[in-house]
Amino acid sequence: MIKKVLLFSLLTFFVQGGCRNESQQPKPKETTQTQTTAENRNDGNQNMSDSSSNKKPNPQSAFYETLNTVLSKRGMSANTVCDGDDVVARRILEEYGAMFLANEVVLVPPVCMFTSEQAVLRFQNQAGPKATNIGGIKIELQSAALNDLLAARAEAQQQGLDITPRGGEAARRNFADTVRLWDSRVKPALAYWQSKGKISSQDAARIRSLPMRDQVREVLELEKQGIYFSTDFSKSILYSVAAPGTSQHLSMLAFDAKEFGNKRVREILARHGWFQTVKSDAPHFTYLGVKESELPSLGLRSVKVGEQVFWVPNVN
Ligand SMILES: [Zn+2]
Repeated sequence: MIKKVLLFSLLTFFVQGGCRNESQQPKPKETTQTQTTAENRNDGNQNMSDSSSNKKPNPQSAFYETLNTVLSKRGMSANTVCDGDDVVARRILEEYGAMFLANEVVLVPPVCMFTSEQAVLRFQNQAGPKATNIGGIKIELQSAALNDLLAARAEAQQQGLDITPRGGEAARRNFADTVRLWDSRVKPALAYWQSKGKISSQDAARIRSLPMRDQVREVLELEKQGIYFSTDFSKSILYSVAAPGTSQHLSMLAFDAKEFGNKRVREILARHGWFQTVKSDAPHFTYLGVKESELPSLGLRSVKVGEQVFWVPNVN
């Protein structure tokens, strides 16, 4: 049971995934596969210290096995995209990593965490953004991702439905966007915890000046001690924003759909290779470009939350 709780806590640690700009999503009760008790659901984060433990990734898990197979065709491996000894990086990979299993018609990023605008731009240029306009909002995605999104939209419209962007940042984003969102949580939280005497002014200044990757690590370390960085200081920062440089939107393989609550829309998107892969980030769809029936053999497992099915890395 304890093992199960730890596993669940780890899985829930990185909820509220790649969309991350924005308002918190409602959290319908999860009903299958990762069943647990209400006490363990962790909305109150009692188990966050467990979830922040230094659990090493398991290279024998279904996810890592298939990830290495899929990436090897691209001349990459799990270790080249994320340092295997870097627990924070591996957790991020296990949260957003479904993207790395995408069909070879698209490019996947060379790293699980971009660390500069230049690196993001280099990748985005290499991948080749393709643009369209939906409802007055510019949408930029990798070509195959955009083509299949437009095909899904056409199918939806034939059925009297529609698929439209949820907000102005629904598709491509840049590195600065992800840093800005991160800072909007970290800076107020440092001031708050300093005022509570939990962090010294010297430490707060030091953390503010750290390179981003080190700052992410330090923030997550502090959260292990109950010093949380969410907007209300009661839970992990990762419930509402992604670590900088990790959003799937940087890779132009993600789209936030306004109509995410419509089951038929979700089914249409899935038929065209678009899936929900970040649990509790319901409007966020990831382009994988494969059939849904192939996803288990790719090392993903389905997690049902309410009526929605999320395909997440099958790690254990
Ligand atoms: Zn998103």
